[in-house]
Amino acid sequence: MTPPVFRFAPSPNGYLHLGHALSALLNIEAARAAGGRMLLRIEDIDVTRCRPEFEAAIHEDLAWLGVTWEQPVRRQSEHFADYSEALERLRALDIVYPSFESRAEIAALVAAREPWPRDPDGAPLYPGAAKSITPHERARRMAAGEPYALRLDMQKALAQGAGKLTWSEYGDGATGDIAADPAAWGDVVLARKDAPASYHLAVVVDDALQGVTDIVRGLDLFHATSVHRLLQTLLALPAPRYRHHRLVLDADGRKLSKSTAATALRELRAQGLTPSDIRRRVGLD
Ligand code: GLU
Repeated sequence: MTPPVFRFAPSPNGYLHLGHALSALLNIEAARAAGGRMLLRIEDIDVTRCRPEFEAAIHEDLAWLGVTWEQPVRRQSEHFADYSEALERLRALDIVYPSFESRAEIAALVAAREPWPRDPDGAPLYPGAAKSITPHERARRMAAGEPYALRLDMQKALAQGAGKLTWSEYGDGATGDIAADPAAWGDVVLARKDAPASYHLAVVVDDALQGVTDIVRGLDLFHATSVHRLLQTLLALPAPRYRHHRLVLDADGRKLSKSTAATALRELRAQGLTPSDIRRRVGLD
């Protein structure tokens, strides 16, 4: 039997905090217990928000915690061609279209039509009329250099996706075979004019290319799995197992954020905490 493959996939847009520590530790422990492999992936697609010092800190903080991983480390910014290729495959299925509204224009369209459905993260579903633009008008606006987002036509995609989608879940929330509900996300963005792939597209492509079998990540990404399963099906990629774990919350019960220095691993380390203290703080041991 081939060994299971785990991965920790942070974005270098801030310092790692206690929530990342829990995720990384659960991954490495599961990999060790199963005689599996552990990968580190740097999700730096959004080059405007990612910084080299955060990336260097990820390596340093994880090593300090006792996490180990295989080389080479995959950095998304070095693999744009892989995402473009996947996008082309989706475009060939005729389920991708460009939309030209800015975020502010989308917000105004939604405000005029409230109540309007929201996705599981609370963002309004895409309301624009881009699907009814004529092919000629689309081509003209793209050629004129207007910014655009490439979106998945959810209705068409679902009509092509193989029937009822599920995923296998063994995390801290609902477990077993979970029914995916990608329609709840509407016409998700797959790429932008100046960015080769959205998070959803890149994560699905990378997990498949890296042979990841077990995705251990926070419960905040539970619902995103519905989109990932749809993209995996459309691109004929294997379905990994999923374990969405509990989140580490702050004293007020809120999800930790990269901007709160108080829970950054380097800050806690500077205060003299040891890796064992961190394990206790995130509820391990
Ligand atoms: N890069 C994502 C994050 O930092 C995690 C992606 C994943 O685990 O699927 O939140």
